[in-house]
Amino acid sequence: MGRLFVIQYDQTPDSRIFLCTICHTQFALRQEVVSMVRTNESLLLEKAVNVVVDTPEHYYLEDAFDNIEMIEADVHCVGCNMLLGQTIIAVDSFHERLIEGRLMLELRKLLYWNGEQVIDAITLLPPEPEEDD
Ligand SMILES: [Zn+2]
Repeated sequence: MGRLFVIQYDQTPDSRIFLCTICHTQFALRQEVVSMVRTNESLLLEKAVNVVVDTPEHYYLEDAFDNIEMIEADVHCVGCNMLLGQTIIAVDSFHERLIEGRLMLELRKLLYWNGEQVIDAITLLPPEPEEDD
């Protein structure tokens, strides 16, 4: 099999990019972020690149006001196949944030290019060096 085509953004002082913690594949520009969901430390994105989408599955979301039925699919990194989160394939009713095509990625699986260096997407600090046991 040939190598999968990977989209590469330039990491310049003007760009802000989310990357894979393991293989540094780029997933999204800062301007694709819809919101940061603090409760489960994830990032809601308008779109992403370099992800592999799994088979869609039904998903039920219950909160205080709604019972939402959605069809979602897991998304993986194209470079290392790590599970990153989910993408919304279809939603049964209108919801201001849950819109078809959007993705919810776990922050702890992401790094962030802040125009200067690559930092941890949660702590916003340079990643901890690997510890030797
Ligand atoms: Zn990866």
